[in-house]
Amino acid sequence: MIEDKNPQRTSISQLGEFGLIEHLTKNFEIKHSSTIKGIGDDAAVIDFKDKKAIVTTDLLVENVHFDLSYMPLKHLGYKSVMVNLSDVYAMNAKATQITVSIAVSNRFPLEALEELYAGIKHACDLYEVDLIGGDTTSSNKGLLITVTALGEANQEDIVYRNTAKSNDLLVVSGDLGGAYLGLQILEREKEVFKVNPQNQPDLDMYSYIIERQLKPEARKDIPELLKKLEVKPTAMIDISDGLSSEIIHLCKQSKVGCNLYEDKIPLDPQVISTSEEFNLSSTTVALSGGEDYELLFTVAQEDFPKIKANPHLSIIGHMTQESEGMHLITRANTKIPLQARGWNSFEENEKE
Ligand code: ADP
Ligand code: MG
Repeated sequence: MIEDKNPQRTSISQLGEFGLIEHLTKNFEIKHSSTIKGIGDDAAVIDFKDKKAIVTTDLLVENVHFDLSYMPLKHLGYKSVMVNLSDVYAMNAKATQITVSIAVSNRFPLEALEELYAGIKHACDLYEVDLIGGDTTSSNKGLLITVTALGEANQEDIVYRNTAKSNDLLVVSGDLGGAYLGLQILEREKEVFKVNPQNQPDLDMYSYIIERQLKPEARKDIPELLKKLEVKPTAMIDISDGLSSEIIHLCKQSKVGCNLYEDKIPLDPQVISTSEEFNLSSTTVALSGGEDYELLFTVAQEDFPKIKANPHLSIIGHMTQESEGMHLITRANTKIPLQARGWNSFEENEKE
């Protein structure tokens, strides 16, 4: 499906490990004064002064987390940075540095790694983070990529998952379900391509959801916006697994319950039309889809006037006493228990 636009293939063994690292990282600039030492020594050195350091890491494995038959390497580089920055923003912190470690088999030429690093560089430039190190090794099969992100925050600004209170409002940024449906489209086209490689698919009507899958954007703007609005969330988490399981994490860790309103869940028109096409409920897609990298948080009732009309934010429910449980209130005004990854069980419930 993805054409090889760059037929040149330079074997990475020609460069040697140091030559390869130097080649891939030479164009990265240091942007933060907190980066005392970046790439080039045994370890990086960072000085966050009086701030707290935030650290998070994610490992992505070929054919488990990504499929290179429709994921261009440049997008993969970008996305692997995004999934980590999203975790930093979910702490209400500022992302400042990343490390990138890769294990590559010899099936990848230098040009492929250049693409991967072009995506990483694009992410570093747009999101203002410094690449400060990593590790490079060979793998027998496939590509593995680990990104570690570092960030900084004032202690009093950090927001955890376990501090939501009963009666707090439940808020989500952006819209949900797109990344999952984008993946369904890409998987479908991959099957079509296997049968008929000549077929040139017209994917225009799916452009938004495909982009949500291939090029997600971490919500750097949301902690900044909340600061401007003078709202400190009472609890926050990023949506990597689907709305339902993230709500359950917030509730369980905070020892509260929740009422989520189906008609308040933000959906893009492409999510609605593509759900119909796949014969799925768009609510189910938003609840269980995953990979949207939006931020889900709770705020005190008194902050309602500060967030109510904001186009980036949707108030989708409120927290309750733990004993009341976690529920979805449907459009028909029935109460359904929320279930983590409840793809099948939720579908059954819906038919009741
Ligand atoms: P060591 O032998 O101490 O592990 P390396 O030779 O692996 O050192 O790395 C040398 C320098 O290059 C270090 O600063 C390291 O963080 C950096 N580095 C190694 N691999 C990568 C990579 N894939 N991306 C970015 N920086 C890297
Ligand atoms: Mg090393």
